[in-house]
Amino acid sequence: MSKEFDVVVIGAGPGGYIAAIRAAQLGKSVACIENWKNPAGNPKLGGTCLNVGCIPSKALLASSEEFENVSHHLGDHGITVSDVKLDITRMLARKEAVVEKMTKGVEFLFRKNKIVWLKGQGKFSGRSDAGVQIDVSGDTGTETVIAKNVIIATGSKARHLPNIPVDNKIVSDNEGALSFDSVPKKLAVIGAGVIGLELGSVWRRLGADVTLLEALPAFLGACDESIAKEAAKQFKKQGLDIHVGVKVNEVRTTDNSVSIAYTDRDGNAATLDADRLIVSIGRVPNTDNLGLDAVGLAVDARGFIPVDEQCATSAPNIYAIGDVVRGPMLAHKAEDEGAMVAEVIDGQKPLIDYNCIPWVIYTEPEIAWVGKTEHQLKAEGREIKTGQFPMLANGRALGIGKPDGFVKMIADVKTDELLGCHIISTNASDLIAEAVVAMEFGAASEDIARISHPHPSLSEVMREAALAVDKRALNM
Ligand code: FAD
Repeated sequence: MSKEFDVVVIGAGPGGYIAAIRAAQLGKSVACIENWKNPAGNPKLGGTCLNVGCIPSKALLASSEEFENVSHHLGDHGITVSDVKLDITRMLARKEAVVEKMTKGVEFLFRKNKIVWLKGQGKFSGRSDAGVQIDVSGDTGTETVIAKNVIIATGSKARHLPNIPVDNKIVSDNEGALSFDSVPKKLAVIGAGVIGLELGSVWRRLGADVTLLEALPAFLGACDESIAKEAAKQFKKQGLDIHVGVKVNEVRTTDNSVSIAYTDRDGNAATLDADRLIVSIGRVPNTDNLGLDAVGLAVDARGFIPVDEQCATSAPNIYAIGDVVRGPMLAHKAEDEGAMVAEVIDGQKPLIDYNCIPWVIYTEPEIAWVGKTEHQLKAEGREIKTGQFPMLANGRALGIGKPDGFVKMIADVKTDELLGCHIISTNASDLIAEAVVAMEFGAASEDIARISHPHPSLSEVMREAALAVDKRALNM
């Protein structure tokens, strides 16, 4: 007899494990199929985010920031440090320990919520009166489970360059780049998007000479133009060498080096030689070997599973969430969709306002935004007003020695409704939450301008930027 469940989730990344927990909270019998194994061969929950994405990259970003601060930025504080050494093995072990704590935490949550973890690869095999059939192939063979509802949360994997195999010695993808066993002298990164910039920053801080080659003509084209311009200035100052509008023609590797032949934005032939290369050119949805045709599903031209605004696929009782569907490839978007779908299955009517999902780039300064950019709003013909305030005029930013960047708010000219908030600043990932709340509540910029903010704090800049929308910033 096949095991039967109210809900079977395929994939235990942030989309899948949150969907499983929420469905269990709502009283459903839940199983989650997950086939991830860590390099030691141990099965792990948590998906890309916990194992090779958000969590390990932020642990390394933090370690590399500490190294840079101790090496270069303590003099101003009157602290002299000498003989600073880098123990990369220990740094990587710390990162792995953070990952282990987080993935073990998900295992605990599964036990607490009585979620059955089916270890193996899930594949649709058909449908019967009882529900959708899924074969789970693991180390001990294949079993079939029956689900009244299925949530596909199979996530994404790194996109590779055609004909350039990732060996994680000379050529790495964004996952391998989290585990270099030494600091390369010269590091090339193809792709100056979010992950390329974050990983480039890690290895630059640890001592590598980093060059990024980006195909798109504009740097950080998804950001508000003013933020992208400031970011380019800051990253150049830090020593990141970023080239946009580049066409990579050929990548050649030897046992200990890589050579990239490319055409620069002016049409000139150029070569970049380096010790290692990170290929960070985006991610592709995971639908290989999922047996979608067995339940009448197919992917779209870009490989995503088509869904409606509540993540329902065209097949009854089958939903898809996270990186495997349209929208930003962000962990919190996957989580929000996971909780939403569990509630839809429960008969509730939840909704996600995708315009209110924040974006963050964890460089230093960090970049974060929510809502639309000035350019997008103007293209839509919206009449807008903007307010901007520099971190340099904030006491807290000066005190902690992080005065770079600014906050920019955009509001509707007539109604004053907040339409976008764009931040480049230390801790922008935390600051942006205030703008997200404001936009979810349909607040006006004046609402932020009128509320008390703690002093001294970086959040005062949020208020000042909101005041600046009405040309009445107080401290500038
Ligand atoms: P995933 O996390 O990819 O999980 C999918 C899971 O499904 C995997 O565990 C996989 O093993 C499993 N699976 C796939 N197919 C099957 C199958 N057939 N059977 C069983 N199991 C299967 N996002 C942020 O919001 N903030 C960040 O700071 C951030 N940093 C990142 C840094 C890096 C280096 C990378 C690579 C990504 C980062 N992301 C970040 C993106 C984030 O990791 C993803 O958006 C997020 O993990 C997507 O969640 P998901 O649940 O859709 O899929």
